[in-house]
Order: sequence, then structure tokens, then C-alpha cells
Amino acid sequence: MMAQYRRIKGELPRDALLLFRLGDFYEMFFEDAQVGARILGLALTRRNGVPMCGLPYHAASAYVGRLLRAGYKVALCDQLEEARPGKLVKREVTAILTPGTHWDERLLPQEQNNFLAAVNPGSSGYGLAVVDLSTGEFRATELEDDQALQTELERLRPAEIIHPAGATTLHSLLLEGRVAGNHPPADPSGSAEPQHRRSPRFGWVVNPYEDWAFSPDTAQYTLREHFRVATLDGFGLKGRPRAIGAAGAVVHYLTQHLRRDLRNLTHLSFYHRGDHLVLDAATLRHLEVLEPLHRDAPRNASLYGALNRTVTPMGARRLRDWLSQPLATLEPIHQRQDAIQTFLDNPELLERFRQQLAEVRDLERILGRLSTGNANARDLVALRFALEQMPGLKQLLQSLAEAPPPHAPLPALSEPSSPRSVLLQQLADQIHTFPDLADLIRRAIVDDPPLSVKEGGLIRDGFDPALDELRRAMREGKDWIARYQAEEIQRTGIASLKVRYNSVFGYYIEVTRANLDRVPPHYQRKQTIANGERFITPELKEIETKILGAEEGSTKLEYELFQQIRERVLARLAPLQEAAAALARADALAGLAETARLHQYCRPVVRDEGLLEIRDGRHPVLEQTLLDERFVPNDTWLASGPAVSGSVAETEPHASTAPAEPRPPQIALITGPNMAGKSTYIRQVALLVLMAHVGSFVPARSARIDLVDRIFTRIGAADDLARGQSTFMVEMTETAHILHHATARSLIVLDEVGRGTSTFDGLSLAWSIVEFIHNQIGAKTLFATHYHELTELAARLPRLKNYNVAVREWRDQIIFLHKIVEGATDKSYGIHVARLAGVPQPVLDRARVILANLEEAELNPDGTPKTRTPARRDREKLRQMPPSTQLDLFGNP
Ligand code: ADP
Repeated sequence: MMAQYRRIKGELPRDALLLFRLGDFYEMFFEDAQVGARILGLALTRRNGVPMCGLPYHAASAYVGRLLRAGYKVALCDQLEEARPGKLVKREVTAILTPGTHWDERLLPQEQNNFLAAVNPGSSGYGLAVVDLSTGEFRATELEDDQALQTELERLRPAEIIHPAGATTLHSLLLEGRVAGNHPPADPSGSAEPQHRRSPRFGWVVNPYEDWAFSPDTAQYTLREHFRVATLDGFGLKGRPRAIGAAGAVVHYLTQHLRRDLRNLTHLSFYHRGDHLVLDAATLRHLEVLEPLHRDAPRNASLYGALNRTVTPMGARRLRDWLSQPLATLEPIHQRQDAIQTFLDNPELLERFRQQLAEVRDLERILGRLSTGNANARDLVALRFALEQMPGLKQLLQSLAEAPPPHAPLPALSEPSSPRSVLLQQLADQIHTFPDLADLIRRAIVDDPPLSVKEGGLIRDGFDPALDELRRAMREGKDWIARYQAEEIQRTGIASLKVRYNSVFGYYIEVTRANLDRVPPHYQRKQTIANGERFITPELKEIETKILGAEEGSTKLEYELFQQIRERVLARLAPLQEAAAALARADALAGLAETARLHQYCRPVVRDEGLLEIRDGRHPVLEQTLLDERFVPNDTWLASGPAVSGSVAETEPHASTAPAEPRPPQIALITGPNMAGKSTYIRQVALLVLMAHVGSFVPARSARIDLVDRIFTRIGAADDLARGQSTFMVEMTETAHILHHATARSLIVLDEVGRGTSTFDGLSLAWSIVEFIHNQIGAKTLFATHYHELTELAARLPRLKNYNVAVREWRDQIIFLHKIVEGATDKSYGIHVARLAGVPQPVLDRARVILANLEEAELNPDGTPKTRTPARRDREKLRQMPPSTQLDLFGNP
């Protein structure tokens, strides 16, 4: 057996742990046992000097999960035949599992893709390919630099990444997230060939793989072989050697290294990041798009959590994908809006569609299991349920697509929409029906089949004549046994005589001790037990052979029939996958419609004129989670500045003396005390813009949200600590990134920039950053700050407007109204708080004097003495008023 072990181990990749099936256990030996015992906390034993560590077969899944999470590959070696005494059992590796390729449902997050990624560095930029074996998704793209690569990887969150073993700089980039060039890559081992490792920062496992598998020629060949095509142009890969290298390497790794069957990878799609709104990793995190920033927050405290009302896991995965990769062009956005509107106009159809769709469950993964050979008869039954729903779902989508709008659209703020939904029509067309397959499975597979496909009991009577024949033989044999028992009782006069069966002796006759003297001589004794003896007879053995033969034959035949049906399904894999994808998208759309219905969202008008106008906007997540308070809605009014290139814009339209039409500002500068609601507000605006680009409706009374090319955020520092960089350095790195990449079409959201350094440093930086955005970039910007001095920028920058968050005093308490109002905030607010807190009056008076003196002496950041600007006069006026007399711009206290 050890020779067998060594042979099998020798054929495995070096870094795979071998789990060797021994009866009811998987055993690890030698170094594998030491590693396994350490990671799993199991006992390390020794037999004949060989270190061993075993884990129970039936609980293997959880242990395997832990080994994978620790970054190891796990090879499962199973017994291919029943154990017989004195004979070495045949064993083979049945699977090599890695974090990005395992298929155990219990370890796979249902609502997330489990991606394996390959990164292929080119002379400039990268090729990236990702595969989800459980759903058959296979995509590739090319990325221009480290930053773009990192953004895309953080969006996709693969469980495992492979890269050419020679690319050591890339290895540390993937592990540590350091942008090469800025920081020298730190590989503590210093070895030329890095070993696979788990990234503490990103959680994914990084595995170096054969360099040559990534070379364009090898990769071309691998892909052409896999897809059986002569050219890869059809996949959009023409002239994309980096993407081809990555896609080819991933297929090579799966087939050659992990020995996988890749039948469910039926297509590969090339995508451009430019077709989508770019959300960098920091923005995805800061805005809590997919998950909350803080681990202990409830799971639904994310945009995804608030919006997800899909009824299948595949729809949920699609929604996540949409949220992390919103659209960037008008037409597809309007199409999704039309689809959602259509659902909302027909609430009964929406309800029926979602109910019926729920029956389809995770069709993508069912197909995945069928094609990777991990399916059982229950998957076929689940497939049948899904197939049975398809004609109805297709019909429902069809009638929705054709349904006329119930009433004419409102004249002012609604988009001129076509009477029917192009997108729903498209989806209806892609949902093919498979009546023959549904019928086949219905006729063949029992309604509630067992888990195992190798122990029979899954095929219906009447489906296959040969199987029926074998089953008849089994039944007759069993009837014969029943009759034989009755006859033997008669013949021997032993009333308690029993014919029984076990797996060691087969059929036998059992006689109790008291009756042994009446046993006839032709009974052959087999075994003595506590209260009697067991016998066999030649007739009994003859029938037994027949029964067992029929039994073995029928289970074998059932397995063959199962395989045949599976093949019939797989012959239609591509159209089945297309239908599943269409249902997933329809689910995501119907879910967005349901959320819009439940929370009274409105359809935003989306154009490409640089406007942002939201009335009574709400924070989509907070409004659903706020328990004891009503969410206070807020307005937003912004427009892009002129696109400026080169020098600072000289003339400003607003500088003229003629009173112009009120124009939306480009920059909203928001001041206010802590806890007033500044962060909530600026995130809310960013989230609504993001949602509009997904095609979703938004929580607002009305909204006009024009296209942006990117959403940039610089918020908070909570998650920066983990990077081991100084907070201020991180803040400035992110700010630099924004200032380099933002355009007049971008949306920038900045929270408390400059906080990480001394007041004057921070203030000066914040001041010049705002100026730069105003004069050079022109991006719509929300800037929340505690530097009240910045409010004076309003006098110098025509497209900047001051806002603050209304606060009221009431019976010696401060009440946060969470209402964004126009104007600069009252600077001496801190002194008011001190008064409320009971600080003695003389101290407060003295503080006021000092404050005034400080301000008089202050210089502008450009070195000139401060002048009395309108904003400053405003503020001083405000300061003379008690805070309770402040009114917001709608005249509300
Ligand atoms: P700031 O950034 O000004 O310190 P936050 O935005 O963190 O304040 O808001 C503080 C708290 O106030 C939030 O946790 C939330 O509970 C509440 N809040 C903020 N905005 C609103 C609102 N519009 N309606 C109701 N509650 C709000």
C-alpha cells in the first residue's frame, strides 16, 4: 500500500496534500501528515515510524475547506473498488482541489462567484482571465497598469490567482497589494521561485504556475484545442496576446495540473473595462457596495444587502456583478430602466414571475455540477423543475415585454420611453424551452432520488425494459425467499425459523438454540451466535446468486442510464447556459423592481449633460436599517464645471456682474459638527449616482442623474490601518490618484481630507485640492470638512457653494436635524457645545475673545492677509445669532 501511496504522491503537483482513502478515513502521511495535523489541530500518530494523520471520511468536507483556506491544494485519492481481505484496493486521485476550483456546495458562497484568476504580465499592462467552474463563466480582459489590475481583482475577489512563476514582482503585488515602483516588492523568503501563499490583505491564494503556459503560442494552442476552433477572433481576442496568455494558462492549469473536465466552459467573453463605470477598489469599499466596511455590521448593511430581492442565487450573483461594474452608456441603462418600469407597471405579473422563478433555483450551478461530473439524480430532478418553469417564465416575460404602459409618462421629468421593453423581449428570446429534456427526466428519474447514483433507486419502473426485467428477477427472488421460509417452518416445525440477509454470508437460515435438535441434516452450519446458529442450504445459495446478480446488474444499469440522461442534457449545454443566464438577469431586474416598489424609488432621468439634481434623496441602506428615527431626505444640485485642459481657467461665467440664472454649483462644500450627517449625505449622493448607472431606480422623490465616467471617493481611514501605512500617506496616495485621473465627467466625494496632519498643513492642502478640482478638473464634487476656513473659498471660486447640516438646541440639548442647508456653518459651534456642557461662562467669554483674535491674525493660505469676504461677513452675522434661529433654505427651522 505504501508503494501505491508513493506512486500516487509522486505524480502530484509538489504543493498538493494527498488525502489517501483508507476505509472510513482519509489518511495523510509523512510531511503531509505534519502539515495537516498542524492546520487541522488533529493528532499526529506514528505507525512503523511513519507519521500519520487521519480524518473521518464523512466529515472530510469541512477539513478540506480548512486546508484550502490555508492555501493548500488538496488531492483526494479514493478507493475505486470494494475492499477485499488480502487484496490491495485500487486507488486513484479523483480530484485535485484548490481554493478557486473546488466544488463543494457547502464551502461555496451561494451568492458569490468562486473565481480562479490568471494574471499575465505583458511588456506593459496585464492580461486577466477569470473562471468560475461552478457556473461555467469564463471572461478575459486587458488592464493598463498595476492600479487597474488591482481594482479589477478587488472587484472580482477571486479565491485563487495564478501567475507566471518567473514574475516575482507580480507575486508580491498580488500578495501585498503594493504598487510596484512606489514600494520595492518585499519577498521575505528572497527565493527566486515563490511558493503559493495566502494574501493576508486580500484573502486570496496566489499560486505561481509554469511560465510557458502563459506564452501566447502555448495559450493560443490550449484555447483552440479546448474550444475546438481554428481562431480565437470570435471571442474578441484578436490582437490581445496578454488576455490570450491569461485565458490559455487558466485552461492549462485546470486541465493539466488539476486534471479537470472543463466541459462547462463553453464560451469565453472578452470585456473592456471602458464599457463600464470605473469604481476603484477603495470606492467599492468606502461606499460599502458589496459588503459592510466593518466586519461586525449586519450583512445586509451594504448597498447589495439593501437592494437584493432576487429569488435565485444566480440572480443574486448577477446583481453583485452589476453593482460592482455599473454601466457607462445611456442605451443599456435606459433598457434596464424600461424593464424595471415594465415590471412596476404590472405588479401582478412581477409577483407571478418572481414566484415561478424561485422554482428554478440555481440553474447555473446545477448545470455546472452536471458537466463536471459531480451531479446526482437530485440535480436532474432540480433541472426538471427548472425546465418545467421555463415555458411559463418565457411567456410571462413575453407578455411583459409587450405590455403597453398603463398611463402616459409624466411630461416633465420622465424619459421618452418606447412602449415595450427591448431588454425583456431579448431575455424572453434567450429562454429556450426544453420540453423533451423535461419529459425525459420526468419519465426516467423518481421524484425523490437518493444522494448516491451508484446504489440504485433512482430510475422509475417502466422507463427501461432491461431494468424492469432485473427488478422483476429481484422481486421474484425475494418472493421465493419468503415462500422458502414458510415452507421450511412447515417442514421442520420450527416456528421461529427465519431467513435473513447480511453482507458477509448473504442469505442464511437462523435457528434459535432451543430448536437446534430439529435442524435437518442438509443444513450447513455457518456461524454460532449468542442465542442460536446460522445455516445455509444449496437452494438458498442458488437463489441468492440470482438475486444478487440481478441487484448488481440493476444498480449498474441505473448508473449507466443516469449517465446517458446526463449526456443528453450536456448535448444541449450551450442553450441551457444561455437560458440560465437570461433568467439570472431577469431575476436581477425583477429584484430591483421589487425593491423600487417596496421603498418607493423613482426612475431617474439619465442623460449626458453633466447635471445632478436629486430631490428628497435618501440613503438606500440607512433608510432601511434606521430603527428609531425617520430618515431625513436631502436635496442635491450639482453640475460639471467646464472641462479644462492645461492652465487655470481664466474667465468664469459667474464673474460677470449681470445677475445670471441660478446655476448649480460644481462643488458642494459641506461643514457641520460631528454626527450631523455629513458622511451619510455625501455617500448617499455617490450611491444614488452609482445606482442610476446600474439602471436601478433610486430612493428619491425625483432625480436627474447624468452619466459620469468614474466615481472617486476618499472617505474615512478605518480600513487603512490594516495596510500598515501611515493614515496620512494613504490619504494622500488616494487623493493623488483622484487628482490624476478625475475628469469633468467624474464625481468626486471627499470626506475630511487633510485630517491626518497638522491643522495648517491639512488646511492648506485641502484648500489647494479644492481649488485644483474647481479650476483644473471640473468634476462634480462633494467635500465634507471640519475646516470652517474653507467656507471662504466660496468668495473666490464661483462654482463652489457652502452647505451645512442644520442643528438645533432644545432644552440644553443639541438636536441634529440631518438637513443639508445652504450657507456656511457657525464656527463657534464648539463653544456652544462647551456652554451646553456646563463650562463656566467666564471661560466661554474668554474663548470667544481668543477665537476672534486668532481669526483676525489669520492669513490666507496664499500668504495674503485675510479680507472680509461675503462668506466671512455672513459667518460673523450668524455668530451673533443664537443657533436656534437658523433656518434652512426651505424656511424650515
Ligand atoms: P458626520 O459625518 O457629520 O459625523 P454621519 O454622517 O456619520 O455624521 O451621521 C451620524 C449619524 O446620524 C448616522 O449614523 C445616522 O444614524 C444619523 N443620520 C445621518 N444622516 C441622517 C439622515 N438624513 N436622517 C436620519 N439620520 C441620519
